[in-house]
Amino acid sequence: DTSLSARDPEIAAAIAQELGRQRHEIELIASENIVSRAVLEAQGSVMTNKYAEGYPGKRYYGGCQFVDIAETLAIERAKALFGCGFANVQPNSGSQANQGVYTALLRPGDTILGMSLDAGGHLTHGAKPNQSGKWFNAIQYGVRRQDSLLDYEQVAALASEHRPKAIIAGGSAIPRVIDFARMREIADSVGAYLIVDMAHFAGLVAAGLYPSPFPHAHVATTTTHKTLRGPRGGMILTNDEEIAKKVNSAIFPGIQGGPLMHVIAAKAVAFGEALEPSFKEYQKQVVLNAQALADELMKGGLDIVTGGTDTHLMLVDLRPKGVKGNATEQALGRAHITCNKNGVPFDPEKPTVTSGVRLGSPAATTRGFGEDEFRQVGRWIIEVVDGLKATDLQGDPAIEGKVKAEVEALCQRFPIYPGL
Ligand code: PLP
Repeated sequence: DTSLSARDPEIAAAIAQELGRQRHEIELIASENIVSRAVLEAQGSVMTNKYAEGYPGKRYYGGCQFVDIAETLAIERAKALFGCGFANVQPNSGSQANQGVYTALLRPGDTILGMSLDAGGHLTHGAKPNQSGKWFNAIQYGVRRQDSLLDYEQVAALASEHRPKAIIAGGSAIPRVIDFARMREIADSVGAYLIVDMAHFAGLVAAGLYPSPFPHAHVATTTTHKTLRGPRGGMILTNDEEIAKKVNSAIFPGIQGGPLMHVIAAKAVAFGEALEPSFKEYQKQVVLNAQALADELMKGGLDIVTGGTDTHLMLVDLRPKGVKGNATEQALGRAHITCNKNGVPFDPEKPTVTSGVRLGSPAATTRGFGEDEFRQVGRWIIEVVDGLKATDLQGDPAIEGKVKAEVEALCQRFPIYPGL
């Protein structure tokens, strides 16, 4: 018997437990989704065996004729999806997509201007502990105190003071639409590249529900596993031929070796799914569901940063209830609602504590939840948070147990991966 369960029962059991967790918990982590069986199958395929350094038609290994089909389909579908002339589908992750673009366009010591982590940016946009913060002179912009919206005036002022070579727009906790035209204007005023990192909202862009980074961005990066609902990975897009050449050399041989051909095949499958009309309907529901959840949480007495959301995600400010992000993440986890603690803008708490949680609708929307279900989830969150408050952050086992049972019943009505 060569099956996984016979060969490696420990790993087989961990995978089975993870499947059970995904089936029985409501996933509200904004950066996660639930891929199709077709995506899983492509990713679990024999293409993992193949070395294919180089690009389709120009490989450094023999036997690449079939992986070339997969990569070419991934590239063509990505270009169709985002209306651009070039795609590199080889980055192993969103972080490596950004690192690839930096390698293509910048030199160590250059100045970059990105959004700070605590305002909603990503580590790879110049945060101190990340390579982008160590190898570049990283200047960081944020959001406005009065409304927590991106501070374009600060971006413009920092750009004219520091004259960055690249400005990065995008982030991991930005609930509102970014004005790419304005960011490009600022970039042009100092001769900087505009890099748009659309990792979070790429699925919404593909569905036409969020403005495209193009024609404003010189280059755009994304992950493929968040709203885009593909396998874990990254991608780089541009319309500029010179940048395209530099990006290809930067990914290979610049920072990566053999591409993950099984993942690239799965990216092609996911992009094909995203080109179907049903994907647009899905993304519409993602936004409606996020808005329904935000509304219900505000009704229950919580604050939503910026007063709502245009996208798939929201930042919940827990301070009106006097509870912390870490305790809330744990209490919701005990009730089988999964999310992550997240700092709110100008958060007085440490990053390990935080005053907020970040919530997103992509995964639960994939399993079929609509606005009614999301409103119910909002009421459960309020119940758990109120229990937390009443017990001095210990959590109320009776409330959490009751919500957990109700969550499980709802999950059973919306099964995932039947027969797996
Ligand atoms: N860029 C943004 C805006 C992100 O939110 C993330 C992931 O959280 C990344 C890049 C990095 O992606 P990965 O985790 O695949 O390296």
